[in-house]
Amino acid sequence: MSRVHVVAIDGPGASGKTVVGLGLAKRLGCRFIDTGAMYRVVTWLALEQRISLNDQQALGRLAAIISIEFTDSDDSAGPPRPFVNGRDLSEEIRAPEVDRAVSKVSMVPGVRESLVGLQRALAGQGTVVMAGRDIGTVVLPDAQLKIFLQASPEERARRRYEELRNGGIAVEYEEVLADLNRRDTLDSGRALSPLVPARDAEQIVTDRHTIEQVIEEIWQLTERR
Ligand code: C5P
Repeated sequence: MSRVHVVAIDGPGASGKTVVGLGLAKRLGCRFIDTGAMYRVVTWLALEQRISLNDQQALGRLAAIISIEFTDSDDSAGPPRPFVNGRDLSEEIRAPEVDRAVSKVSMVPGVRESLVGLQRALAGQGTVVMAGRDIGTVVLPDAQLKIFLQASPEERARRRYEELRNGGIAVEYEEVLADLNRRDTLDSGRALSPLVPARDAEQIVTDRHTIEQVIEEIWQLTERR
């Protein structure tokens, strides 16, 4: 492998971070961490425990005691599965109600503090590809390679719509597009760790690229470092 031991991939929802990050990690022979799944886990538990999304202290307390473990997927192409207290939450965290609530939970300073701590600890365990919104800017600012993936809202909505439909979740395209636009606005406009490219990030627009092409492009960047 090249000198690159930490790859940060950031970008808006459904820009391809997970599938690209997973493919790249396979090629590099390292771990892939999807930090969006961690915010989703906290959100799902908050909904399950009926914690008010306005109760920042309770959300912070929940995130502080949580222990999330990632286990390799049975399906070798799938992302690692998040487990909480032995319970596999990989399906639950993709539910539309989590989509609707997650940006509110991820704005809470106490939630971010705990999850960023967990993310840095995971990254400290060896070579890693980590995907999220603030990996290159806040979580791992010393990453040797930072990627910011972009795609038009329509293309991202199309991808998310197909993903949800294939998973048996009945949604309308317009609903998915509206949700992504709403989350983009919240994630980009928040005061703490907003979704912005790091100054030293390589920006890649994925609309007309296949997953393999994007992985190859990033792979070439790792080789040149
Ligand atoms: O990547 P994904 O769409 O699964 O992320 C879900 C949500 O988690 C985002 O909309 C964002 O609010 C939050 N998130 C974040 N910081 C990260 C990763 C995700 O705030 N590093």
